[in-house]
Amino acid sequence: MRRIGHYIGGRDIASPAGRQAPVFNPATGEQSASVSLASAAEVGAAVRSAAAAFPGWAATPPLQRARILNRFLRILEERTGELAAIITAEHGKVLSDARGEVQRGLEVVEFATAAPQLLKGQITENVGRDVDSHAVRQPLGVVAGITPFNFPAMVPMWMFPVALAAGNCFILKPSERDPSASLLIARWLTEAGLPAGVFNVVQGDKEAVDALLTAPDVKAISFVGSTPIARYIYETAAHHGKRCQALGGAKNHMVILPDADMEQAADALMGAAYGSAGERCMAISVAVPVGAETAERLVEMLAPRVAALKVAPGTDPEAEMGPLITAAHRDKVAGFIASGEAQGARLLVDGRGLSMQGHEGGFFLGGTLFDHVTPEMDIYREEIFGPVLSVVRRDSFEDALALVNGCEFGNGTSIFTRNGDAARRFAAGVEVGMVGVNVPIPVPMAFHSFGGWKASLFGDHHMHGEEGFRFYTRLKTVTTRWPKGAGGGADFVMPTMR
Ligand code: NAD
Repeated sequence: MRRIGHYIGGRDIASPAGRQAPVFNPATGEQSASVSLASAAEVGAAVRSAAAAFPGWAATPPLQRARILNRFLRILEERTGELAAIITAEHGKVLSDARGEVQRGLEVVEFATAAPQLLKGQITENVGRDVDSHAVRQPLGVVAGITPFNFPAMVPMWMFPVALAAGNCFILKPSERDPSASLLIARWLTEAGLPAGVFNVVQGDKEAVDALLTAPDVKAISFVGSTPIARYIYETAAHHGKRCQALGGAKNHMVILPDADMEQAADALMGAAYGSAGERCMAISVAVPVGAETAERLVEMLAPRVAALKVAPGTDPEAEMGPLITAAHRDKVAGFIASGEAQGARLLVDGRGLSMQGHEGGFFLGGTLFDHVTPEMDIYREEIFGPVLSVVRRDSFEDALALVNGCEFGNGTSIFTRNGDAARRFAAGVEVGMVGVNVPIPVPMAFHSFGGWKASLFGDHHMHGEEGFRFYTRLKTVTTRWPKGAGGGADFVMPTMR
């Protein structure tokens, strides 16, 4: 059995003895490897390695740091297929989607190569007579990223390119369910010229996370995952005096007004609800048609499309949707389908019981569609994180907006309409961090910033873009006067008064 270890101090650390977890190929259901779960001592070794590398990396001119990231970018572009294949093998998503994930990640690397420009400070001449002030942003030191299973390459790349460009050293704790992509990335960073210890990977679970959260040398934590863990990470990091951005779960609504292009809306919903088997934090899991006629037309268009979804292993070029991440998760999602039925929602397409010849052991579940879902039902209140779309009917724009704003989560949302005034009112009034107008999955580009509101983000800064540079740096303001500018004798008034 292949054993997956850590990457510390610029080299692979072959899987040490100690706790292990199985890694599966979700398309076959077979175990493909086992991954080490780091002890606190192993995390300590990574922290020491990163801390030792920090002074040299922080002193490296931003232009030179950017050149290394540029070389890494070229490697990523040339070998996208290799990384995508590893993602599909451990996550299960279709290959084209895995390639898309790498693409969205490498765009952040591309953005971070502008570090020399982005790290330029501010200067004010003569804040007082012969006194100048300048403000610079300096790196924090060792920072850590803890990431979820659903984007094993892209989510780490929301974080580390910006952290490294800003002069920090990084420790990545990837999801233990699909750990291999992180090691490939680490090797490619070394190949691109990154000094040893600047980027490290420790595999693990809660024990490794807790060791990072409590290590005095770790100055900041970036987290992406489910809301209960995000809240725990934020509180624990704050308790230990660390800066923290913790992105949580989601329940994203798409509002469809009567004047929307219904074909466009139905097609958009298919990709947004069922792409990557619904295991996306920006997936649409609730469709909110406004008016009975809109609802009838929408459901009529959706049901045959959902029933016809091509579910197959991610390596099948025809596949539109692959398996779920684990058998346990597939069963949990199936349990939600049962609860929706029991609580009175109308099950229009049932994805349970899907069996695929030659892949009977795979963690597959077909696309599922519910109509007449109400906000009290568990399938509405909980994040299902699977290929299940709930239609919640509403009578007016105001009711639809109130529904979205009443939700615990505030990650993404979208509105489909031809009415500019309604779209504008929606965008202005909705309590959600990322909003689309006739765009179902409004993920901000690398040079903007990614993040939700409410239970979808604990902390202040969103990820990547200028917000990312702010998160990974701290501000220093220097006020300077040279002897020539100093008057004789002691000063008893503010220098700016002179
Ligand atoms: P998860 O919360 O189970 O795990 C995320 C990370 O936390 C993993 O690295 C895991 O090892 C670690 N972890 C798990 N339990 C822990 C514990 N008790 N203590 C400390 N660390 C722990 O999430 P997941 O199942 O890997 O990913 C799916 C979730 O991530 C969904 O809720 C999804 O919405 C969310 N997500 C959010 C965003 C976003 O941008 N807001 C993006 C992607 C995924």
